[in-house]
Amino acid sequence: MTVLVLGSANADLVVAVPRRPGGGETVLGGDTVVMPGGKGANTAVAAGRLGCDVALVGAVGPDRYGELLRASLAAAGVRTSRVRTSARPTGLAYITVTPDGENSIVVAPGANADVSVSDVDALAWDGVEVLVCSLEVPLDTVVHAVAAAASRGVRPVLNLSPVTPVPAATLALLDPLVVNEHEALELAGSFAGLLDLGPRSAVVTLGARGAAVVTPAGVVEVPAPAVRPVDTTGAGDAFAGALAAGLAAGRSLEAAAGYAARVAAVSVTRRGAQPSYPTPDEVPS
Ligand code: ATP
Repeated sequence: MTVLVLGSANADLVVAVPRRPGGGETVLGGDTVVMPGGKGANTAVAAGRLGCDVALVGAVGPDRYGELLRASLAAAGVRTSRVRTSARPTGLAYITVTPDGENSIVVAPGANADVSVSDVDALAWDGVEVLVCSLEVPLDTVVHAVAAAASRGVRPVLNLSPVTPVPAATLALLDPLVVNEHEALELAGSFAGLLDLGPRSAVVTLGARGAAVVTPAGVVEVPAPAVRPVDTTGAGDAFAGALAAGLAAGRSLEAAAGYAARVAAVSVTRRGAQPSYPTPDEVPS
């Protein structure tokens, strides 16, 4: 395969509630909607749907949520031979949505906490061009994977979400570090300042404004097409998956970021995360 994604696989359990319950209170909600999610699985599905040869390195539990995730990955063409079935339950995100559209989320990592250094050591790297990681799996596993990739000439990409302190030696290998605007300002105060953290390059996603590509040569903005957003869930993961697919296909960082912005813009016009990701013919040129 050409892209390896190391990251989480979660089932999202979504329930609409009239308002958020206070401590000790019970609120009745609507029917639970179960959707495949998790940053790693979303990223892999985005790349897979674009026709990229991609594998997910991760873990699910021996339960129906694990089956749901495997089925969604397989339907997108993602290789799942490195998705281990752990003894712990599949990671779950308990998501309540209030009428104003705001989400409150509790994540129970479950099997994701078992994704380990030995899972990385068991990988075959032949043909891999790009490794994409995110941080809903243990940090030491990500640190090890980034080093393993770089030592084999594989390009390491890290979506630093959720924001977590990462060793400087890991940051120095990234090409690029990917963050959203809020994370960029929290980490560095400015887009150009991201390079002071050590990565070779950085990409900042800017919502409806697209993305900014940060290299030693400067900051270049790439626009997202104007769309009518319906649901932005998983847009950042769509961006990461498409960016990796673009880089693996030999695009420059700026061209890959432009492609990722177009892919992610399509994803916000449809409901859900994984179900919203486009095939190549649905991406505007
Ligand atoms: P999320 O947490 O919702 O997954 P994020 O905060 O990580 O997203 P954003 O910067 O909000 O990341 O969005 C990622 C990408 O999605 C953007 O770079 C852009 O390409 C696309 N996008 C998001 N919102 C819009 C929008 N309203 N119109 C067009 N494109 C959008």
